[in-house]
Amino acid sequence: MAASDAIRNVGVIAHVDAGKTSLTERILHLCGSIRYCGAVDEGTTVSDYLLQERERGVSIVSAAVTCRWKECRINLIDTPGHIDFTAEVERSLRVMDAAVAVFCGLRGVQAQSEMVWRRAARYGLPAIAFVNKLDREGANFEAVVAQMGELLGKETHPVVLACPLRAAGVPQSQNEREAIIDLLTGRLDGGGELPDEAARERCRQGRLRLLEQLADCDAAMMEAYVAGEWPDEGALRGVLRKAALSNRLVPVLCGSAKTGAGVPLLLDTVQAFLPSPAERLASPAGRRLFNISPTRLTRPDGGDYAVLTVIKAFRGGWQGDWMAVRLYSGCLHKGLCLRDCNRGADLKIGALWRLNAADLLPLDAVEAGDVVGLSPEGGLPANLRTGDTLAEAGGPEIRLARMHFPEPVVTVILNGVDAADRAKLPAAAASLAEEDPTLRCRCDSDSGVCALSGLGEFHLKIAAERLRTEYGVRTQAGRPQVLYRTCCGVSVRHRGEFRRQLSPETLLQASVEISLEPLPRGSGVEVRFAEQVGGAALPSGCLEALRSAVDEVVDACGPTGCPLTDTRVTVHEVSSLMAEPSEPVFLTAGRTALLEAYAQSRPVVLEPVMRLEVSVPADQTGSVMADLASRRGRILSHASVADGGVRVVSRIPVAEMLSYATDLRSLTGGRAEFSAEPAGYEVKPEAVKKTR
Ligand code: GDP
Ligand code: MG
Repeated sequence: MAASDAIRNVGVIAHVDAGKTSLTERILHLCGSIRYCGAVDEGTTVSDYLLQERERGVSIVSAAVTCRWKECRINLIDTPGHIDFTAEVERSLRVMDAAVAVFCGLRGVQAQSEMVWRRAARYGLPAIAFVNKLDREGANFEAVVAQMGELLGKETHPVVLACPLRAAGVPQSQNEREAIIDLLTGRLDGGGELPDEAARERCRQGRLRLLEQLADCDAAMMEAYVAGEWPDEGALRGVLRKAALSNRLVPVLCGSAKTGAGVPLLLDTVQAFLPSPAERLASPAGRRLFNISPTRLTRPDGGDYAVLTVIKAFRGGWQGDWMAVRLYSGCLHKGLCLRDCNRGADLKIGALWRLNAADLLPLDAVEAGDVVGLSPEGGLPANLRTGDTLAEAGGPEIRLARMHFPEPVVTVILNGVDAADRAKLPAAAASLAEEDPTLRCRCDSDSGVCALSGLGEFHLKIAAERLRTEYGVRTQAGRPQVLYRTCCGVSVRHRGEFRRQLSPETLLQASVEISLEPLPRGSGVEVRFAEQVGGAALPSGCLEALRSAVDEVVDACGPTGCPLTDTRVTVHEVSSLMAEPSEPVFLTAGRTALLEAYAQSRPVVLEPVMRLEVSVPADQTGSVMADLASRRGRILSHASVADGGVRVVSRIPVAEMLSYATDLRSLTGGRAEFSAEPAGYEVKPEAVKKTR
């Protein structure tokens, strides 16, 4: 087996608390990477390494770890489940080849499970589902699988490869609770015989169902099924693998991260039924990402040029500056020169690292397909960003598909506590925003006040805490504010002019003709300059002044300074009666023309909305829905789920969601949970004057 055929790059995804971090820890322990198995509740796991994570017991940043299982190297990324840290999930999924989705065996498909699952589906990632926490009383494997079937939809189906020894509800000992039947071999995970007839019958039923599903995918399996035979194991595994790689079937396993039950089988399944890096790139989704003809990658000496994606840059941490990268083609070694194809910077590899959560272990060389750490000589280029494509110097200029991050929807004003904090705040906030593309900061360098924008209150709260603990900057935060936007209501074309007669001889004058057109929701702003503007024989400084006037107005033309969006801005013509046009005159004329055009365009204010999923016990559905209605929420669906609860999906303005976490807790006595993700912008109704 070639080295890269034995690599599996896997993202662990799930709802918060399903057990991702515990599972990652258990896997590291089983593979011999760590001697003691840490516990989330004690703050001792490898992958929750930030102080905030250890204190709160939630994952905030993704942690990449590596382990060896039999012939395989598994690169795992433990992702945070909380939707406010969506950038972490997004960048993990984009560079991984497959996903392991963890479900809680008691609570089943939870609010966030669906969102992370849809994300994985968007990247076309083959997946395995792991039903966790079966060591706990009340776990119900069958119910979770049934819910999963609903979640996956029509084209993808769960296929059970392992089930608990006893059905839910059958009285059982703790030992039995940890026994898992491997349906492919018909034995217990670990090789033991099934203990009694009830278990053997359960296994027979499970195998029959498995064969039925495979027969649906393949003619030879259909023959075996009709003949009532159990097919050759090799053939069966072949069909299963093909169905898993094409996302037709999702293998379902089960067990407990806490006791380790079922985890060896999970690792065997990762090795056997998830794609190698090469297989991923050959799949339709992989080709969309890496759509480069192989001939362009071939070096004169026959090898391949190195091409990689920056997963994440780390600056100024205790390990110095480095980045986590995914190598798609070629090899990396110390001294190799790379070019940032998105920004044009060059760098030379100073060191390569195997990632071990908070630890970095030195490496000499890296083969295609791997996920590793890389330190450039002399530090990271200043403008390097997450998602950039780096390619070997001398090779083709390549930009791999971009990662998609939602725009921030909430802002808070941060102020340093004392003068020293105020002085350090702008640089620290900028560095945090660089690491997390869903955070934006705008600082006033005179006062040191910083407007930090992100995806939610929790996101911003953690950001402020990280400023304190990682950068030593203490801040006071104002009330979170919603980030509104504005767009033009109708198309307009308008000529704006600046004219001032300074003296009888000196006239300052320039005029600019600008049009605004509404674009569909989600398009953002498009700025165009007609050709004759460039050819208007203006000194180049004037054109630049005009550009910055447009940018400035676009950034803050709406009420309370909100930015323009979903609008095309075209500068059609410029003219001046001055013998020597001056830059400030053009700046003012451009600003005036655009502001006047905007005022005439019947502008509307847009507010960000969230897609909100609430999981609630059936008896409280009424009060939760009434509360959503009072918050201008629009119910999209509500359906009973297998554990007796109801899942309510709605669209709701962000302005109505500030403090929702606390309100929902007090409304339901803590029995409901929710998750929300940005779902674009909608026109803000005039009638809404004041929101919560
Ligand atoms: P994450 O948010 O998905 O990373 O979940 P964690 O790994 O942080 O686990 C959440 C909680 O569930 C912690 O209190 C864990 O101790 C607990 N937990 C995780 N896996 C299991 C399991 O298999 N059995 C039991 N009984 N508890 C578990
Ligand atoms: Mg976690």
